[in-house]
Amino acid sequence: MKLAFIMSLFSILGLVSSIDVADAAPKNDKIKVVVTNSILADITKNIGQDKIDLHSIVPVGQDPHEYEVLPEDITKTSQADLIFYNGINLETGGNAWFTKLVKNANKKANKDYFAASDGIEVIYLEGKNEQGKEDPHAWLNLENGIIYARNIAKQLGAKDPKNKAFYEKNLANYTTKLAKLDQEAKRKFDAIPQEKKLIVTSEGCFKYFSKAYHIPSAYIWEINTEEEGTPDQIKDLVLKLKSSKVPALFVESSVDDRPMKSIAQETGLPIHAKIFTDSVAEPGQEGDSYYAMMKWNLDKIYEGLSK
Ligand SMILES: [Zn+2]
Repeated sequence: MKLAFIMSLFSILGLVSSIDVADAAPKNDKIKVVVTNSILADITKNIGQDKIDLHSIVPVGQDPHEYEVLPEDITKTSQADLIFYNGINLETGGNAWFTKLVKNANKKANKDYFAASDGIEVIYLEGKNEQGKEDPHAWLNLENGIIYARNIAKQLGAKDPKNKAFYEKNLANYTTKLAKLDQEAKRKFDAIPQEKKLIVTSEGCFKYFSKAYHIPSAYIWEINTEEEGTPDQIKDLVLKLKSSKVPALFVESSVDDRPMKSIAQETGLPIHAKIFTDSVAEPGQEGDSYYAMMKWNLDKIYEGLSK
């Protein structure tokens, strides 16, 4: 009863204030931008800053491959001036939630919505060199993150030309920072002995990272849209690890950690750290931006493999 009263009071207040704003103040001229996940949200925020209204769909810490769209997401997507998604088989793989969302919101490809990954060199899932079988985790190579940032800045400038110079200046500052981190990582990884170089995670999401930083990767399952952590998958990885000299395992923040715990138990290898692959960390925690999550990953992987 009390709660219902407070709620109705809030909605009355909300209604009154929104009428006031509409009557008195000039219309908010910020462009409305929707992005599919927390990594794209952070890159977009770095470039758009206070000139855009940003809505990010998949919450921090959740899997962006498969997602149940909420009514709020449909409303925001319908009203958006500009929408960014990762593409290359992330939100369009599995249950294809993004494909359905933009269709329902009546939005058009390369007019209303754009793939932030446009122009990157695609890596495919093992042995599957065809459309729909791409590995989506391109952002785990910082050079690709720079391409994402450029694509986002380009579309923001095209949709909102009066702030184009602002977006370009922010892009330049941001990509300089990312490029510096990339160079540092490449230097550091060179020092790790070859036989210890293997990144072990639950999902096989490190193909782009492996290629960029010359460290091979191994996994329990290849992509989150398929079966995750079956007994056969666990057995295969345990066998592989027993014949390697890798000193540590890793587990991603956005997956169930139980399969990796089984691997740790059966191989006797420690899980060195939680790393960020498909989401940034919660606000205020280490890894709560694209830059910070990449720095965290690079530092933790270096530390774990140097043991
Ligand atoms: Zn993933």
